[in-house]
Amino acid sequence: MIPVRGYVGAVVGVLGLGRSGLATARALAAGGAVVRAWDDSVEARSKAEAEGVACTDLGKASALDGMAALIVSPGIAHLYPAPNKIIAAAMGLGIPVDNDIGLFFASFGGEEWDAFDTPPRVVCVTGSNGKSTTTALIHHILQQAGRPTQMAGNIGTGVLSIDPPQDGEVIVLELSSYQTELARALTPDVAVFTNLSPDHLDRHGGMGGYFAAKRRLLTEGGPDRAIVGVDEGEGVFLANQLATGAQDDRVIRISSGQKLDAFAWSVFARKGFLAEWRRGKQVASIDLRAINGLPGAHNHQNACAAYAAARALGLAPREIEAALHSFAGLPHRSQLVRERGGVRFVNDSKATNVDSAAKALQAFDRIRWIAGGMGKEGGIAALAPHLGAVVKAYLIGHSAREFALQLGETPYEICETMERAVALAAAEAEAGDVVLLAPAAASFDQYPNFEKRGEDFAARVAAL
Ligand code: ADP
Repeated sequence: MIPVRGYVGAVVGVLGLGRSGLATARALAAGGAVVRAWDDSVEARSKAEAEGVACTDLGKASALDGMAALIVSPGIAHLYPAPNKIIAAAMGLGIPVDNDIGLFFASFGGEEWDAFDTPPRVVCVTGSNGKSTTTALIHHILQQAGRPTQMAGNIGTGVLSIDPPQDGEVIVLELSSYQTELARALTPDVAVFTNLSPDHLDRHGGMGGYFAAKRRLLTEGGPDRAIVGVDEGEGVFLANQLATGAQDDRVIRISSGQKLDAFAWSVFARKGFLAEWRRGKQVASIDLRAINGLPGAHNHQNACAAYAAARALGLAPREIEAALHSFAGLPHRSQLVRERGGVRFVNDSKATNVDSAAKALQAFDRIRWIAGGMGKEGGIAALAPHLGAVVKAYLIGHSAREFALQLGETPYEICETMERAVALAAAEAEAGDVVLLAPAAASFDQYPNFEKRGEDFAARVAAL
């Protein structure tokens, strides 16, 4: 745990008692703060009480009296579409509103660092897609290189739950737009912005607000290195704004598809090869095609981002290449779960929307595509240009029939269930085919969440 500094004897509110909220309450208490914790949900409160975190109704005006700060969970709206009432009341009284990320940066460094040879560093990853994969990949590369490292944030562990850092340790954090928008301190040593596409627009008042929230990670704290995906206009703008000119190597531009040879430092992937360029010369190249854990152009973008971060931390290209080969992929994101008679079975249950499903459909050549679930607005109409590699679709769940109508000439079968879809796709697949679960739909018509859907797919594949 990282005890929170700066609040000894001060009253601090904690709103939202999920995993990160509970960790925050404990870290504040460990740092000597007087915690007033609250969650609107009765269940969350009883879980908190059971874990020794007492609750105080922050909805009562008196509960905000003398409060030094209010720390809120990322799931609770602070501005759009409308601020939560307690947050609005706190802001009305001038109480600083912050989150665990802000507390983390304010509390991370201490006197014990004076004895270290190399001060610990923090790498933060944000972006619309590929955050988790890139974060896990950076962590994996560091581990393989024998560097002390911990991973936290939006992925797994709450930031204040990590162990105090050791000499030379690198902390890798995945940060969502909700987290970067609110944190009062954001001072990573290396910041990564992977890409941008519309998401969570209701929480940010539109695309401009969404971009502004993410951009704070790179503009607030002045990282030593900023790694910026320049495949969208926003990334081009951000890289331009951060650098003094094309020869400023504090900015590493990355791309999947573009050749970036005009900058002081860039990393890009084209036709399956990653290339690192410095001042007009290629300095390293890696064949990504043979790396099973990172299929497709979208994962090549993630590989570029992680490679650039590792280089910014001083690792050698060959060390990074070896680690890329041993990366197994994250569960439910283009994850190879089995190879059987030349047929690969890939679980991309996290592809809950059309955008991420499109990436998965572009990653393979002959696809038996398991899709469906609770479709989103517009169904899969937008996927029409990406169906070229689909040999046949096996449709499941609530939206199966709606999806079938949007498939054009692509052969399909309504399978209803995962069990039937996997059995049929496996029976019809030929060597070289990929049976791909990339639903382009939410899971909640048939499963509690996308993880359970992916686990069901994997279990049925294992049982074949
Ligand atoms: P995040 O943490 O940003 O949601 P993940 O790594 O969990 O990102 O991936 C989420 C979904 O997006 C998965 O379906 C994955 O295959 C897809 N994806 C991964 N990386 C990228 C990328 N760089 N661009 C677009 N889609 C991606």
